[in-house]
Amino acid sequence: MHFTMGIDQERLVADFMTLVSIGSPSRDEAHVAAYIRGVVEELGFTVEEDGAADDVQGNSGNLIVRVPGTNERQSTILLMAHMDTVSPGYGIQPIRLNDRITSDGKTILGADDKAAIAGLLHMLRILRMTKEPHPALEIVFTVSEEAGLLGAKALQRESLASSYGFVFDSAGPLGFIVTEGPAQAKLQAIVNGRAAHAGIAPEKGINAITIAANAISRMHLGRVDEYTTANVGRIAGGFATNIVCDRVEINAEVRSLHDEGLQRERLAMSASLEQAAQDIGGTVDLHWIDSYPAFTLPADSFLRSVVVNAMEHIDISPIFGATGGGSDANIIAGKGIPVANLALGYQQNHTLEEWISLHDLMKGAELMLEIVRECQKLECAYPTPGALGQFA
Ligand SMILES: [Zn+2]
Repeated sequence: MHFTMGIDQERLVADFMTLVSIGSPSRDEAHVAAYIRGVVEELGFTVEEDGAADDVQGNSGNLIVRVPGTNERQSTILLMAHMDTVSPGYGIQPIRLNDRITSDGKTILGADDKAAIAGLLHMLRILRMTKEPHPALEIVFTVSEEAGLLGAKALQRESLASSYGFVFDSAGPLGFIVTEGPAQAKLQAIVNGRAAHAGIAPEKGINAITIAANAISRMHLGRVDEYTTANVGRIAGGFATNIVCDRVEINAEVRSLHDEGLQRERLAMSASLEQAAQDIGGTVDLHWIDSYPAFTLPADSFLRSVVVNAMEHIDISPIFGATGGGSDANIIAGKGIPVANLALGYQQNHTLEEWISLHDLMKGAELMLEIVRECQKLECAYPTPGALGQFA
């Protein structure tokens, strides 16, 4: 058995292999949730399941593990990972070869985000073993993250006592700390024209494809500015060459690191469609969905120093950077709990080539433990619940 700073590598790897082999594509997290519950309850902690199953139409809600602190005057700290995976995610056969773990090539591996779950469970084991003082923890395992951050969205703010926290779910090398991530909004547009025989009475028709084409040609797409991107990702409509097309469906998105940029490009995209329809007498129905708000970890946030200090103790070099994707961190920060989002070193996630090194799997668990220890230090220095949250 190898012990490094309290981490039992063989046990951690075994736990990880078990977790990934329990298939849990979004909305089917019940089996992995039951496994997590078993481990947590055996350690003597309580697990609650919230009502998110109904909201996301899945077979499990979010799990909330409440770990009482050794000093009740301190803040509660949130630690988060998601239980679901993308597909193909059933029948995962993890393979350990030299210093890496991969799938057998027929499925994803699911290290996104089970490396985080394995690490958090291991961290709990160690806290139990060492009986060291630590702040109160709320460890939240969400559902349906990959389906659009649905579990985090359904999570009730009032069910959490946390003042601040850490999300372990980012692509990138171990040590990567997300400094900003874009807000995203999605558009479903229906363009309505009027059908007519294309040969006999074309002047009676209003061609929805023409409207869509004109609108799209006027949109700002691609990299709109330094902070903002926009894309038309899907278009469908029409039946035959002899019918003037009366209906086209368009799906598009806008992302921006700034909420103003998002609003501006949303309005511009809507206006292009409305104008193009008006030009030839058609109409549009626009349905916008706010996927998630922008995420920032300010340069002076004390969460940064917690993470950097924790990394220093265990020889991980911090790497700060922006991400183009959304995560549970966007939603939780949007609910008013400041969080940092950290990468655990899994590579090529969402592909059949996904892998993680044994080194990173172990270091990730160690990092979680160090972060909790660093929070304990800080909380002892500022022993008022929530005092540090205002600097986050
Ligand atoms: Zn993930």
